[in-house]
Amino acid sequence: MPESLRVLHVASEMAPLIKSGGLADVAGALPAALKRLGCDTRVVLPGYRGAIRKAQEHGVSWHAHPLIIEAGGVDHRVHVGTTVIDGVPVHLLAASELFDRDGLYGPAASVDYDDNARRYAVFAKASLALPGLLNWRPHVVHAHDWQAGLVPALLRRGFINDLPATKSVFTIHNIAYQGSFPAHDLRLTGLDEGLFNPQELAHWGRLNWLKAGVVFADRVTTVSPRYAEEIQLPEYGYGLEAVIAHHRCKLSGILNGIDATTWDPATDPLIASAYSSADVSGKRACQMALRKECHLDENPRACLMGVVSRLVEQKGLDLILDAVEPYILDGRLQLVLLGSGDRHLEQRVHALHARHPGQVFAWYGYNEALAHRVIAGCDALLVPSRFEPCGLTQMYAMRYGTLPIVRFTGGLADTVRDVATGDGWGFTFGPVDLGHFSSVLDRACGMFEHYPSEWQQARLRAMQRDLSWDRAAQGYVDLYRRICNVD
Ligand code: ADP
Repeated sequence: MPESLRVLHVASEMAPLIKSGGLADVAGALPAALKRLGCDTRVVLPGYRGAIRKAQEHGVSWHAHPLIIEAGGVDHRVHVGTTVIDGVPVHLLAASELFDRDGLYGPAASVDYDDNARRYAVFAKASLALPGLLNWRPHVVHAHDWQAGLVPALLRRGFINDLPATKSVFTIHNIAYQGSFPAHDLRLTGLDEGLFNPQELAHWGRLNWLKAGVVFADRVTTVSPRYAEEIQLPEYGYGLEAVIAHHRCKLSGILNGIDATTWDPATDPLIASAYSSADVSGKRACQMALRKECHLDENPRACLMGVVSRLVEQKGLDLILDAVEPYILDGRLQLVLLGSGDRHLEQRVHALHARHPGQVFAWYGYNEALAHRVIAGCDALLVPSRFEPCGLTQMYAMRYGTLPIVRFTGGLADTVRDVATGDGWGFTFGPVDLGHFSSVLDRACGMFEHYPSEWQQARLRAMQRDLSWDRAAQGYVDLYRRICNVD
């Protein structure tokens, strides 16, 4: 029997234990999908208060001996708790002085803890000490985002000497977040001072942990192929474009999958009526229920468009607010918006809602069940992001036969083909300006009103796309095999 490929994922979030963004969805789904393909996969996570509490529902066993991890002359006792999620062992690294807090990265959304350099230096070192404690040595350590960016550097520079053959993969989920710290924090890592130079760890006079991952990993991936190209450009690289371009020979993009069990209109318990590509009639009932719930007028001429999003500049909500009103006044478009975030955007949404009751509905906050009902009940979903490393909502929309209207960028460009090609299943636009966005709305409303059978064909094509994690996981297995000698 061939040896299984052993892969250790180092991530700072993992659904369902702890989540603040899309990374958690990937770390929650990819290891289980790798296991289905025969890999021996484990995950290591910081032992955040919330993660340990949630893990206790699954049962946690604590290793008898803590890891002792030194950082800047201070020893941290790191206790290792193991739980099993979807058949995958998950190791929580608990050090109460570092992770037993309410927040993940800071006390509030846009405020960082001032000891984050120490917290994630200890996390990275402990993650690499863990295989020795478990007597389970991975072929590949797969580190995710800046919080695990030191892992490839520590591995390559011999912080641990019992993993000589282990290779590393580093995945960038969003290059806007980089883990930038003062130069003196290098002492926390134990890495040689000589590495503080512009080719390695230094970036504009500071340490940059995302850069550390990119420079030292054997392979670097992004969560869509197009994003891998885009981050080599100043427009998308957040200052790291030259570093990424320099390392492009080891860079590739692997599109995320979606959780096809939770997001399946044939079995979704959260929507008014089940449906599938074989029989989409239930979608009509979902739409009627959504209009009723949102107090929207029954208007068969209007294309019902949805938004499920964080309300932040990245997501292009300002474009929607600037463009939709003429279409609403013409009776060609209705809008349901679910989101939370920026207060200023929220106020603009609120004003639009107040001006057009019966045509616009908005709900502020995070609401998983309503997200399912919006995606099932709408005709189209708007995702006009300025940049989008992968994006999930457009893929959920496709699965539910809701045509995505997206900006042609990152994972949106990789998942949505325009109906203008003749065999597409959505609408795309390029430049972020009112003219281009209005013309895509025009095309969508026009096709919805005048070409219903073409719309229906596009809907079926959307529903039939393979968006599974199994496809994505195979991409990673192929990559792992290329860098280590395991069949
Ligand atoms: P990002 O990670 O940049 O926010 P993604 O499209 O990759 O964007 O993932 C967003 C996820 O969060 C999706 O699962 C989406 O359904 C969910 N989501 C976003 N806003 C809300 C909300 N207000 N209520 C419920 N789910 C939401």
